[in-house]
Amino acid sequence: MDWVDLRSDTVTRPTPAMRAAMLDAEVGDDVYGEDPTVNALQQRLAGDLGFEAGLFVPSGTQSNLLALMSHCERGDEYIVGADAHTYKFEGGGAAVLGSIQPQPIAHDTDGSLPLDKVAAAIKPVDPHFARTRLLALENTWHGRVLPMAYLQAARDLARERGLALHLDGARLYNAAVTDGVPARAIASHFDSVSVCLSKGLGAPVGSVLVGSAALIDKARRWRKVAGGGWRQAGMLAAACLHALDHQVERLAQDHARAARLAEGLRELPGVKLLGLHTNMVFVDVPQERLRELDAHLREAGVRISIGYLPTLRLVTHLDVDDAGVERVIAAFKTFFAA
Ligand SMILES: *Cc1c(COP(=O)(O)O)cnc(C)c1O
Repeated sequence: MDWVDLRSDTVTRPTPAMRAAMLDAEVGDDVYGEDPTVNALQQRLAGDLGFEAGLFVPSGTQSNLLALMSHCERGDEYIVGADAHTYKFEGGGAAVLGSIQPQPIAHDTDGSLPLDKVAAAIKPVDPHFARTRLLALENTWHGRVLPMAYLQAARDLARERGLALHLDGARLYNAAVTDGVPARAIASHFDSVSVCLSKGLGAPVGSVLVGSAALIDKARRWRKVAGGGWRQAGMLAAACLHALDHQVERLAQDHARAARLAEGLRELPGVKLLGLHTNMVFVDVPQERLRELDAHLREAGVRISIGYLPTLRLVTHLDVDDAGVERVIAAFKTFFAA
């Protein structure tokens, strides 16, 4: 079955051209710093985003963890969104492995963390309290693009209060394409940025953490401790470089297809369109019909993820074309017409 898989943009498979780039990659032992393709990827992203250094890692989870552990020491605290990936979807790694206390803050509907609440959460310097060291933001957050003016205000607050500022930019390029700005215009507000190449950008594996040379040195050490030192990873880095060269601008197509999907579902009785954000469409359908809907969509070759979020999240990506979107709309139509 040729599935239209809307569960996530992580399900993309490498294109033939990406596979060819992987086959041709020059490689070496990256623990010795000798993989030329890994080095090229790290320098490329650090340069593009305006940082001194980069570190190639297997996952966004590890990239965020290494960032938190490099900014914070045992007994330090980071301020983070209550619905942020680093806090909620990474197994509590910062606390488990870094002895870093999270201070979660409720998000505003646009995904931002209200800065008055952030400021109020910063602990005084006193032995009673954990030492607040870092503010972590996420862009995009559930597909939402944080406003540029907000990033500047967060930067100002962090500077004024002596906090470091980390961005979980798993989908940084979706935000940049939407804002119509180079990714570095967003990244430049931060002290470190984690980018996923394995989501909408379409690489099979990999994230890159960028920051100062000193921060990345610490992160490299923690990566080894976490078992993430790898060897001829250039074959994977080649896929990531290919993605950066050929699959960034096309994110706009994913956003256009998400918009078409939202438009097609908007008028259906029984479907409530809750939001359209970059490559994600959020809809509510009657809870009691969810399993039945899932089975109906599978018959039509459409996969969705149910029971993970309170609402349905439908995600477009490299492997969903125009015909795929029309197939999804048609399948929803026959279900809700019946
Ligand atoms: C996917 C994701 C991550 C982590 O990526 P993995 O590679 O799955 O570990 C981090 N943050 C956000 C916002 C993500 O969507």
